[in-house]
Amino acid sequence: MAKIGINIATGSLQQEEIIVGIDLGTTNSLVAIIHPDTKQPVALKEHNTSSLVPSVIHFDEAGNITVGEEAKKKLISEPQNTIFSAKRLMGKSYNDIKQNASFFSYKVIDDNTESLVKVQVGNKFYSPVDLSSFILKELKQRAEHILKTPVNKAVITVPAYFNDAQRQATRDAGKLAGLDVLRIVNEPTAASLAYGLGLHKEDEKTIAVYDLGGGTFDISILKISNGIFEVLSTNGDTYLGGDDIDNAIVKFWIQQSGINEEDLRANKELTQAIRLKAEEAKIYLSGNNSFEGELNGDKLTITKEQFNTLIQPLVDKTVTCCSNALKDASLKVKDIDVVVMVGGSTRVPLVKESIGHFFGKPVNDTVNPDEVVALGAAIQADILAGNNKDFLLLDITPLSLGIETMGGLMDVLIPRNSKIPNKAARQYTTYKDGQGGMKIAVYQGERDMIKDNRKLAEFNLTGIPGMPAGMPKVEVSFLINADGILVVKAKELRSGVEQSIEVKSQFSLSDEDVEKMLLDSITHAKDDIATRALVEARTEAEQLLETTEKFIQKNAALLSKQELMETAAAMQALQLSITMEDKDLIHTKVEELNDISRPYAERIMDQAVSLAMKGKAI
Ligand code: ADP
Ligand code: MG
Repeated sequence: MAKIGINIATGSLQQEEIIVGIDLGTTNSLVAIIHPDTKQPVALKEHNTSSLVPSVIHFDEAGNITVGEEAKKKLISEPQNTIFSAKRLMGKSYNDIKQNASFFSYKVIDDNTESLVKVQVGNKFYSPVDLSSFILKELKQRAEHILKTPVNKAVITVPAYFNDAQRQATRDAGKLAGLDVLRIVNEPTAASLAYGLGLHKEDEKTIAVYDLGGGTFDISILKISNGIFEVLSTNGDTYLGGDDIDNAIVKFWIQQSGINEEDLRANKELTQAIRLKAEEAKIYLSGNNSFEGELNGDKLTITKEQFNTLIQPLVDKTVTCCSNALKDASLKVKDIDVVVMVGGSTRVPLVKESIGHFFGKPVNDTVNPDEVVALGAAIQADILAGNNKDFLLLDITPLSLGIETMGGLMDVLIPRNSKIPNKAARQYTTYKDGQGGMKIAVYQGERDMIKDNRKLAEFNLTGIPGMPAGMPKVEVSFLINADGILVVKAKELRSGVEQSIEVKSQFSLSDEDVEKMLLDSITHAKDDIATRALVEARTEAEQLLETTEKFIQKNAALLSKQELMETAAAMQALQLSITMEDKDLIHTKVEELNDISRPYAERIMDQAVSLAMKGKAI
């Protein structure tokens, strides 16, 4: 877990921060980390519970928010107040989703414009970013509770087909939840990583990632070479998944048992109950030959054969998508080296068999399909933490990037369709004697004149020492990091003066927008924040107690009796404060303990340092 050390200079505690991997799913979400001892990825869960958190948000009358299993129970009984599948709304306008409007049993605002959708619950409006941030907040809190350490940094996964707007929305949701999102990673890439694919530079493979979740189906064809992942094609159906399998079973039972469909629709509790039974039957049939259940005295049965016949059309649809994905990538079935299974619904044996049959090879299904994406995100987080440096993820620039040169011309530094991450540099010079500054204007587009392209940013390189025209050497460099964020730097090489600017994605929210939303979330969720502050204070206190305990054990001989006694008393007081609901009290007790231990911690560190220096020539 997190390492804690005493800072030699200040005597204060220092902590190495943990980076978590998050699968923010349409149906279920979860968090994973690399286990500090085994170095293997693990999904976080409380003892005896599932690692999966249903991506469902419930709002009660008083405005309290619950996320997860408890919220899921309200789906049918309180459809207006219970939000599911918020991920489907990320970065979308009402026009984008209106064909599927009936899918959402809550209120999606129909303003018939191109602006981003909002969801109305009671008299409040929430953006998909807000909604996703509630899920992420819950995940963050769970992780903090389980790990007993603050969690502030994360890698979050998104579908490979997510566009800039959807990726930026996901990033903004993370920021709202108090997470520094270090990287957005494609789900199929994460799944491949969890299978160890692409972790070695010499790996050269073409991979099909088949992801059948709760409500969506994605097939992605990836190519790995030199530790770089390239998405060759994606295909799928955004309204096909495990829910459709459940519905097929419900329909089957209605026909079999003569339950009246009208009655069923009118009775929300019964509707919910029969759906849950159907899901239970489906899961049971993944490992057994027939299911027998009962609901309100009605017997509900289904055999595996009947089940397979029911879902064959659904499976066939996914096979067609696989075939289209291959076509788009200009590949044949035999070009695929590995087929990876992702998503809870791939547990259905018929799915695995059919897909194995289509690709002509057994599928890879050894990693838990519910967790595989999060596990891969944790591996990516570990790479970002610096444990695997020569490893990058690939994307492509949609438009050329360049700067304005003399006469309003576009000078392209990074052509369109270049791989991301990427960098390029070019030298320019002044055109006037003694010219002390240079305007650097950054554009995106394919036209020769900058006036026809899109301006992204502009800045001035100032302070160039007086030189004749043509003498200064100004190097302009473009660096696009793996998130698609562009950093433009200009440096006069003779004098060393330099200036740089960061260009955010064209769809991004401005910092002010995010700040405003943060403020809103503070005024609306005071309680939420108070609880978090208390949890954080407790966590900090527990860590301090642990570190102090260890320090004392190791160095008891170097401390005076008085110091030992004072420390023990302060530790006891801190321990007691943890049991109370008062974060300020905890902070005070933390400070008191720190004030007592700081002087001797410094003294002992100094001794250690001077011991180490003895006999060494400086
Ligand atoms: P998402 O990626 O959309 O968030 P998941 O990968 O978590 O979704 O998949 C959830 C779906 O998997 C649900 O429809 C659930 O019923 C289904 N599922 C889970 N376990 C099984 C199983 N053993 N057999 C069949 N389906 C399963
Ligand atoms: Mg998923």
